Amino acid sequence: MIKIQQNFSLKQSNSFGLDSTAQTFIEADNAEELLDSIKSGRSSFSDLLLLGTGSNILLSKPAVGTVIHPVNTDIMILDEFPEYVLVRCGAGMDWDKFVDWTVNCGYYGLENLSLIPGSVGAAPVQNIGAYGAEVSNWIESVNVIDLESFRTFTLNRDQCGFGYRDSIFKDPVNKKWLVWEVVFRLDKEPRPNLTYKPLKQEFPVGYRPEILEVRNAVIRIRRSKLPDPAEIGNAGSFFKNPVISGCHAALLKENYPDIPAYYHDPETAKIPAGWLIDQCGWKGFREGPVGVYPKQALVLVNYGGATSIQILNLANRIIESVQKSFGIKLEMEVRLI
Ligand SMILES: Cc1cc2nc3c(=O)[nH]c(=O)nc-3n(C[C@H](O)[C@H](O)[C@H](O)COP(=O)(O)OP(=O)(O)OC[C@H]3O[C@@H](n4cnc5c(N)ncnc54)[C@H](O)[C@@H]3O)c2cc1C
Repeated sequence: MIKIQQNFSLKQSNSFGLDSTAQTFIEADNAEELLDSIKSGRSSFSDLLLLGTGSNILLSKPAVGTVIHPVNTDIMILDEFPEYVLVRCGAGMDWDKFVDWTVNCGYYGLENLSLIPGSVGAAPVQNIGAYGAEVSNWIESVNVIDLESFRTFTLNRDQCGFGYRDSIFKDPVNKKWLVWEVVFRLDKEPRPNLTYKPLKQEFPVGYRPEILEVRNAVIRIRRSKLPDPAEIGNAGSFFKNPVISGCHAALLKENYPDIPAYYHDPETAKIPAGWLIDQCGWKGFREGPVGVYPKQALVLVNYGGATSIQILNLANRIIESVQKSFGIKLEMEVRLI
């Protein structure tokens, strides 16, 4: 199936709820039909946007050219071994529905990533992560359609260039690479990941939770902390957690003994951006329709009717104040379109 619509409003297609129009909006669940449509010129490629559910983008322009939105949702077990299973899932599948499926099958790996909004196709692009887990650790390979050369190819995990909220798919030279399917390698052996302290604290000391218990705990924590985009427009963490030098972290620790710093190695430390923003007094700030979520300073919100300019202005003011107080330049996690 391929469905092409003109002058399509994107307001319902981004979790900030911002107004923008796609000149052409293409939904496809079949790779051949999508490629045929492009080859035959039925779909043009001016100003291309590959779109999942729009939960990590900030639409800053009143209009975009062509939007391609995969809606392929097939799940298939490709191979099964005593210890693990290889599962392929279409890019258009809702991420949390897929996690729910894996949990119901008893396949370990993705349960800590429960309830992250978005599509399966965007998961490797963003290298989504939460509660001590990162999706890249569970990806075997990614099937890609290059919309420029009409080539389809597979990248294994090492070829995906995964980093913190980063991957090869974010490189501007690859902006016509459509993630079409993702193959996951999931454990059949129970291996609950309780490395993240607040998650561990959900269980009695020494308790080894079942996979469904982990998923439910993650969902509980997330619901208590994060706004539901269906109720308040937002795109999750607006900024990345900055990684600074060990020396810089040590200096900050002298002035701010409570600063949380997570050392990957002695040379670099990751500082929670939410803590920095909170220290600068932004948590709960509101100005007209835009604000900083009262329960999580990392989340900028649209209380209704905000423009991208208002959101960006607030973001820039936060960046400036964190820079001034801590000498740290925050970077946006949300992708500016
Ligand atoms: C309330 C809330 C909580 C969140 N919590 C987390 C969290 O805990 N951890 C986390 O990592 N993220 C989190 N996010 C961010 C977001 O959920 C993820 O980044 C998610 O992967 C985005 O999926 P999407 O389908 O909405 O992608 P979109 O927002 O549609 O797209 C994001 C980027 O990926 C590209 N893209 C999308 N689909 C494809 C494709 N098939 N092929 C190639 N490129 C593509 C787009 O061009 C865009 O650049 C949160 C967001 C919200 C609103």
